[in-house]
Formats: sequence, structure tokens, C-alpha cells
Amino acid sequence: MFSTVPILHRLSLLSFALLLTAQGCTFLLPPPTGKGMESFPLPGVPITIRYQPADRSTLPLIKESIMQALPRVTRWGRLIHPVTVIVCPDHDSLERAVQRHGYRWLKAWATEETIYLQSPRSWLVLSRKRFLALVTHELTHVVHYQTAGLRASRSTKNDPLWFREGLASYTAGQGSRRYSRKTLRQKLHTHPSFNPLSPTKKEIQKNQQLLYSAAHHLVTFLIEKFGEEKIRKLLRHIAEGNSFDQAFEKTYGTSEKEMKKEWELRLAQ
Ligand SMILES: [Zn+2]
Repeated sequence: MFSTVPILHRLSLLSFALLLTAQGCTFLLPPPTGKGMESFPLPGVPITIRYQPADRSTLPLIKESIMQALPRVTRWGRLIHPVTVIVCPDHDSLERAVQRHGYRWLKAWATEETIYLQSPRSWLVLSRKRFLALVTHELTHVVHYQTAGLRASRSTKNDPLWFREGLASYTAGQGSRRYSRKTLRQKLHTHPSFNPLSPTKKEIQKNQQLLYSAAHHLVTFLIEKFGEEKIRKLLRHIAEGNSFDQAFEKTYGTSEKEMKKEWELRLAQ
């Protein structure tokens, strides 16, 4: 049966510590076993929502958002394994569930088989559009990991941050939450040492907007230039056991580094 352990076991403690910071919403954890939780299996899809009775009223919104998100995210692959969406009643319980503290902006967290979601009931400002984008973003991570991850027993090194977050941001249509191309160009000019392909720990911690914006625009560039089929091809190559670098070269006939140069030229236009 499926387990998240093979994906983590290769990581050294140091890289794992960095990973905790780098992955944002993608840290892998076993689902909690909350007392008094109720379950709602969605019909026709391998997804179950688990929630406290107090959050029962949020089910229609969560269900509707998942069903709307699925056609968008399954363009990258199928849901092969069951997924549990755990509704955390408030932000603190979300932070406890994912063992991350001090991330007030955090609303959700995804692994191969679980999405932890801060109950929309506890959002200060709730917009259906923003909630749908969040659910789409997290489900993209799940589909990505299930499609590219399990069969290859990949390590997280196969999936650089720019690609994971860029793909999720692109699929969720979160461009309006990122810097525009023009602003990003200016920001990159004022942060000449920043490399979106290998951000430093400090940049990951302190400059998330720059990081996520660069990731979003990098993936958007790839898809606009080469199409979505290449993304599916890239995921297939990873699933076959290639490292991300190998899979990237096989798919695009160039290295990430060369692609980044081309992207920078395009960004400057
Ligand atoms: Zn994410």
C-alpha cells in the first residue's frame, strides 16, 4: 500500500530541515486522527473530507471547490491513490497539524495523499474565488506527486521548488497574486544574486513573493513556449525514475540553466 516514507527516507537531516522551509505547502506528514471527526466521501472520486461537526456548514463550499478544481488539475495526471482533505477548524490547529508555527499566511498544506485545509469558517476574509484557487493549488500538488512520485520512489530533489510551486500557481490561475512580469523584472534587477532555480534558505524564508512569482512566471513561460503536453511528458520521465534534471533535458532538449537564460531574455522584452 502507499506510504509517504519512501519519499522521505533518503533525505539527510540537513536537507530535511531545509525542505521544511522550502516546501511551503508540501511538507509530508501522516494525517492526524482527530477525535469526533466526521467523514464525507465525495461521490465518484477518491477523495474524502474529514471535519469537525462545527465545520459541517463549510462542506458545500469545499465540495464544490474540489469538483471545480478537478478538471483543471487532472490535466497533469490522474488521482491514483485516495486523498483525504482534513479541515482544521482554525489557523492554530492547521499549524499544529502540519507542525509549522508562525506562518500566519498559511491556509493549507498538501502531501501525496492529504490536504490540510484551514476551515473557510475561520478565514478573516473569505472569497469563493480565492478559496477555489487555494484548493486548485493544493490538488495540483497532490496530482503532481501522485503522477510523478510514487512509481519512481522519487526524492524531493526531483522536484525543485520553482517547478512544484510554479505548476501549482499556474494551474490555480494565481498570477494576480504574484508580481507582474514588469515588477518581477525590476525585483530581479534589485536582487541580482537571487536565483529562482536555487534560492538560498534566507530568500525562501524572507522573500516568498519573489520566489513564488519567479516560479509562476518560469512555469508560465515553459507552457506558453512548449505547451502543456511537455509538462505531462516531463512528469512521465520523472515517474520512469529519471532525476528532474534528466527528465528536463529529455523533455526540452536543454538544461534548466539554459532555459532560465532564455526566460530572462523573454522577461526583459
Ligand atoms: Zn504550494
